Amino acid sequence: MAQLFVISAPSGTGKTSLINKVLHEELASKAKLGISCTTREKRKNEEEGIAYFFLTEEEFNKKIKEDGFLEYANVFGNLYGTPKDWVISTIAKGFDVILELDVQGALQVKNVYPDAKTIFIIPTSYKDLENRLVKRGLDSQETIEKRLSEAKQEIISGKDFDYLITNDDFDLAFLDLKYAMYSNANCKKEREELTKKSLSHLLDQ
Ligand code: 5GP
Repeated sequence: MAQLFVISAPSGTGKTSLINKVLHEELASKAKLGISCTTREKRKNEEEGIAYFFLTEEEFNKKIKEDGFLEYANVFGNLYGTPKDWVISTIAKGFDVILELDVQGALQVKNVYPDAKTIFIIPTSYKDLENRLVKRGLDSQETIEKRLSEAKQEIISGKDFDYLITNDDFDLAFLDLKYAMYSNANCKKEREELTKKSLSHLLDQ
């Protein structure tokens, strides 16, 4: 039976790199990554129909009216939505679908598809997240501060996802993600303990 995976994380947590590595695994040979629609501006190196389908607000709103989205949300001031027909037809063809969504979108999908596996990736601390955002070099200091304060809200909502993973170390987090997606067994006890500790540390701040 094809599965629907919804993966979220605060910006800079390493979600995209982890998902890309999973997609190279034999286990994921029948998985397809969803391509969303967005009204945000295309970045350099992004191609239409590969990174996103870039729509005007008018086009996006028309698609909302036509009930064309499985979910949609306003993220950092831009609209993002998952094309409904594509998800339904891809699952019907027997492919697993991986959606990389913000927390609001993930929760909307879980409402419509209670069997979807929701996975949330957290950093070990806000300091660690800040270091990653600085190292990534994509954002100004002001944007980094905004992303950090948004991360707090996302972590509060993301703590109730089906699976929580800590990205303290890329290879270990990758194994945890693979386990969460394709095995019904829990990940190692020490990894669970680390996630509990990281989460309580993040929620306390
Ligand atoms: P970015 O603009 O950096 O590519 O993505 C910003 C945020 O929007 C990320 O958290 C990403 O996961 C989320 N996102 C991307 N596509 C969708 C979508 O279709 N729906 C929702 N709700 N969030 C999305």
